Amino acid sequence: MDRNKRLKLVIDKGRYFCKVIKNYIFCRQDKTCPFCNSREISEIMNKFFFIKLFRCNNCSLMFRYPKDGVCNQYYRDSCYCDEPKIPPTLPTVLELTQLKSQNFKDSIYDISDKITLIKKYIKEGNILDYGASWGYELWQFINEGFSGLGYEIDIKRAKFGEENLGLKIIHDSKGLDCFQSGFNLVFANHVLEHIEDIRSVFNRIYKLLKDAGYLFIFVPNCSDIDKEPWRKIYAFGQRHCIAFDKRFFYKNLSSLGFSIIEVKECMWNKYELMVIARKDKTTGILI
Ligand SMILES: [Zn+2]
Repeated sequence: MDRNKRLKLVIDKGRYFCKVIKNYIFCRQDKTCPFCNSREISEIMNKFFFIKLFRCNNCSLMFRYPKDGVCNQYYRDSCYCDEPKIPPTLPTVLELTQLKSQNFKDSIYDISDKITLIKKYIKEGNILDYGASWGYELWQFINEGFSGLGYEIDIKRAKFGEENLGLKIIHDSKGLDCFQSGFNLVFANHVLEHIEDIRSVFNRIYKLLKDAGYLFIFVPNCSDIDKEPWRKIYAFGQRHCIAFDKRFFYKNLSSLGFSIIEVKECMWNKYELMVIARKDKTTGILI
């Protein structure tokens, strides 16, 4: 990492921490659960005392406090795009040519394990890559015989994918409205842990999926964090505002209109939680 990027990263983290402290002093937020609005919450752990992880005693969601909505700003911020060593970093033209020639195989962008797994359930169809970054995942799906598009709120990344990979990547949620009941599967790979209002995301995905369409979710595995507190390294902080465990999905997916096929640790990475579900009209969505 070069000196300027390192400095930028340190300044960014410092700014975030100042924002957290300011929040405590001047505008204390309510501590209601962002998913079910319950006030019945328990503190599980903290980082530097001020950044806390709560669990909702009603729905079991674990969420970061302060819930300052940093994430949307953060992901539209150019600092995120330039952040080094985070897998969705934008490649150079030369790097991209090489990556494409090998279908991203054995690179940090390689999702062939996930596609192989998904193909056991669905071999083709229209996919929505929810949180598509610059399109490297969608590109691999299309190479495997799927069709579809991506959704990414970071305009710089979305445009990069459109211009350099020839993909359709929508950056405005309203642009998705015309695709209701349009997808056979939705793929959300390490996205939901960055979004505070996950109820809206599930409701949107429900509407976008065809009947019995598949939902594949991959998130950091924060199951048993009480017994294994070291998981807090990745569970919450500036970029992760929600921490998921198996319990949350088992408890809530049905009321969101999905029937669960599997919720378990990924076989290739125990730090990753995998959720496979299908849109199920009979479960009765509670919007
Ligand atoms: Zn809750």
